[in-house]
Amino acid sequence: MAAILELEGVCAHYGRIQALRDVSLRVEEGEVVTIIGANGAGKSTTLMTICGIVRATAGEVRYAGESIRDKRPDQLPALGLCQVPEGRRIFPRLTVQENLDMGAFLRRDADEIEADLGMVFRLFPVLHERRKQHGGTLSGGEQQMLAIARALMGRPRMLLLDEPSLGLSPMISQHIFRIIRNVNEERGMTVLLVEQNANMALKLADRAYVMETGAVVMEDDAAALRENADIRKAYLGQ
Ligand code: ATP
Repeated sequence: MAAILELEGVCAHYGRIQALRDVSLRVEEGEVVTIIGANGAGKSTTLMTICGIVRATAGEVRYAGESIRDKRPDQLPALGLCQVPEGRRIFPRLTVQENLDMGAFLRRDADEIEADLGMVFRLFPVLHERRKQHGGTLSGGEQQMLAIARALMGRPRMLLLDEPSLGLSPMISQHIFRIIRNVNEERGMTVLLVEQNANMALKLADRAYVMETGAVVMEDDAAALRENADIRKAYLGQ
C-alpha cells in the first residue's frame, strides 16, 4: 500500500529547544493511525509540522507523493488535508450552520454539499437541533463535534485530529471516536490522531506510534501495543 503521508527524519525547534528529534512515520491510505505519549512528548508539534504551522528544521514531509514541507497551513485543505486543532477553534459568532458552511467553502458541488450536511446532522443530531445557535454558546463537547463536522464538510482525503477527547466526558469522547471510525470505514477517509487518552486511541486506531521527549520510541499495530506490558504500565494505567 502506498503511504499518503510520510515523515522522514523530521526535526523541529522552538528557538533553541529541540521539540522533534528525527521523527519518521508513515500513514497509508485508509488507515487510522494514532500518536500517543505523555505531556510534552512532541505529539502536537508533529501535527503542527505536518500542517506547516511549525517549520521542520530538518527532514522531509510528503503528502500524496509530494513534499509539503514548505507549504503554508492555508494551502493544505485544497490538497484534501484538513486539520482539527486542539482547543476546537470554531467561529464563536457564527451559527452552527454558518460554521458548517465555512467548512465547505472550497467546494462548488452544491448537491453534494447538501448531502454531506445531511450526513453530519445524522452523525451529530445535536448540531441539527442547535443549527441556528452561535458556535460560542455550545458546550465544550458540542464545539468539538462542530469542529469535526466542519472539517468533514470539506470532504478531506485525510484528517489530522489533535486531542479530540480533551476536556470531554468519557461518554462524549466515545461518541466522537465512534464517528471518526464510522467516517473512516464509510468514506475511506485516512486519519492521523494525536491523543493523550491512549486507551481510547489504541481501541480506535489500526496502528500507533509512541513518542517520548520528541522522538518516536515504538511503532506497532494498535492491538499489539494494547497487549504490550510496558505500554500497559506506562500509558494504560494497568
Ligand atoms: P501535550 O499532550 O501536553 O499537548 P505534546 O506531546 O503535544 O504534549 P508538544 O506540545 O508538541 O507536546 O510539546 C513538545 C515540546 O515542545 C515540549 O517540551 C513543549 O514544552 C515544547 N513547546 C511546545 N510549544 C512550544 C512553544 N510555542 N515554545 C516553546 N516550547 C514549546
